[in-house]
Amino acid sequence: MAHLHTALGSIFPKVGDRLVSNLRRPMLRLAADTSPGVHDTIIACCDHARYQQLGCERYHDNCADNLRMALMAIGLQAPLVPAPLNVWMNVPVAHDGSTRFAAPVSKPGDHIDFCAEMDLISVMSACPQDITPVNGVGVAPESLAFEVLD
Ligand SMILES: [Zn+2]
Repeated sequence: MAHLHTALGSIFPKVGDRLVSNLRRPMLRLAADTSPGVHDTIIACCDHARYQQLGCERYHDNCADNLRMALMAIGLQAPLVPAPLNVWMNVPVAHDGSTRFAAPVSKPGDHIDFCAEMDLISVMSACPQDITPVNGVGVAPESLAFEVLD
């Protein structure tokens, strides 16, 4: 995501922008977005340590493990958990640089289209975060649909 920030001159990707790799090569183009376009590019994905910090004493599903399991299912292993593009995650940045987790401004039925600019493996995790309001307050996890087109 740090390379994305440099390429875009912004922390907020918008329709038409190209998401680049850590080698600054275009990977995906944001082709369409029916939401207000609030996506996070600065917050690490949730993981076991994050849920421990939030007071969980037992295992909590998390995006880092979702990534690892998705790759394991196709015989791959992540050398590290990369900085994610957090689609529809609302992390406002204040003038003093502080951040907070806010409810999404997207709504059910919104969709986002990406066009691959290279062959790639992309993993999507429906974030199971239910402690901070980042997925909405009192919101139960719902299904997330995706489609890959040629
Ligand atoms: Zn998550």
